[in-house]
Amino acid sequence: MQSCANAKDIKNTLIDYGIQASYTRIRIYEVLKSSKVHLSAEDVYLKLIDSIPTLSRTTVYNTLSLYAKKGVISEVPVYGKALKYDANNKAHGYFKCRICDGVFDIGANEMPSLKEGFKVEKIDVFYYGICSKCAQKLNEKKGSN
Ligand SMILES: [Zn+2]
Repeated sequence: MQSCANAKDIKNTLIDYGIQASYTRIRIYEVLKSSKVHLSAEDVYLKLIDSIPTLSRTTVYNTLSLYAKKGVISEVPVYGKALKYDANNKAHGYFKCRICDGVFDIGANEMPSLKEGFKVEKIDVFYYGICSKCAQKLNEKKGSN
């Protein structure tokens, strides 16, 4: 799943954020970027350990922390104990379903606007509720009674 053009783009992205782009760092970002779901450090580690046998969990953890600190990626704070990461670093929020535990991104256009003079440094917006799929299942259940 590696293409040279992609690795080059990633390298440039990392350099733009002032991060030294080593092979391992590029691969870690690549895994997160290509994932459709949010990943924990452990998830990233497990996806890479076969192709990078020298990889340590500490390296993955430190790299993801660095990326989050520099703003390359976002930390997704809604999963409870296991911190997960999102390659989407644009301002956006999350919706967590209390039934299936699914976590969905919410677009930036749904974010509240702030008064002039406020400087946003970090955005954590999340809603808890029931996703459309689970809501539909609940309705079907009600209907069959
Ligand atoms: Zn759900």
